[in-house]
Amino acid sequence: MKLFNYYTAKREPRIGINLDEKIYNFSQLWEFYKDIKGFHQSPQLYFLQMMIELDVFNQADIQEVISTVKEFRTLDDILIDEKITYDVPIARPQKILCIGRNYSEHAKELGNEAPSEPIFFAKMPSSMLPHEGTIMIPHNVGRVDHEIELAVIIGKTTKHVPVIQAHEMIAGYTIVNDVTARAMQKGDIERKQPWLRSKSFDTFCPIGPYLIPAEVIGNPQNLQLTLRVNGEIRQQSNTANMIFPVDELIAYISRHMTLLPGDIIATGTPEGISPIQSGDQVTAEVESIGTLINSVH
Ligand code: ZN
Repeated sequence: MKLFNYYTAKREPRIGINLDEKIYNFSQLWEFYKDIKGFHQSPQLYFLQMMIELDVFNQADIQEVISTVKEFRTLDDILIDEKITYDVPIARPQKILCIGRNYSEHAKELGNEAPSEPIFFAKMPSSMLPHEGTIMIPHNVGRVDHEIELAVIIGKTTKHVPVIQAHEMIAGYTIVNDVTARAMQKGDIERKQPWLRSKSFDTFCPIGPYLIPAEVIGNPQNLQLTLRVNGEIRQQSNTANMIFPVDELIAYISRHMTLLPGDIIATGTPEGISPIQSGDQVTAEVESIGTLINSVH
């Protein structure tokens, strides 16, 4: 059960669902469901963020829609057979937060100690790039690195949540490549300036393609992460190696600021970061979640 936002060949936004490697138009599936149930007042669903805000982005509700419709009709005519364009899974998050140094081997490779509490910083939402989009490296910016990360999408308003309840706040999981202008970041840190700009160039946040409901994944702390550049493995680790697991990150952040439905937390990158350049193809794969592919220019 993998959901995604896409545009039809006519550039109409839709929600898609991947079931057993076949992709269906979930927006249409939802319309069939509404007709069967007589839910004529319910809104049409064109974006995953609407599902999250209506509290129907969960395994049970999605399964109920599929099973109900299947009792009355075939899904064959809502198979997506046209050329589609993927969109980011969340187009308008209120914020994107990233965790720094959350894998000890990665902290080491940049000459840092493992932190005693989470380090978090922001990445601007305007930096997002969908699956199959092109990462655009600005001129004269020096070294730019890839960073594969498990990303958490928040499902509920979250403030001062205890660690033990934090998992209830998660709508689902996706993949982020936290592209970083490393030379610029290093210079800014040396000058004791914030490193926001090196993380926030347009296209520096490839994300998606799929958003997987949290219940489908269950435990997020045992997922294999693999990043390849031109087919060659550069980063390979497991979310079991996080210093601060997802629940602790959510609890910690929520003591500082309110997290809202659709907010994105990129949970940190493992070791193996390396430069990317024009002409590269970057493939970020997280077990059970999918593969995010982007070219570089
Ligand atoms: Zn990162």
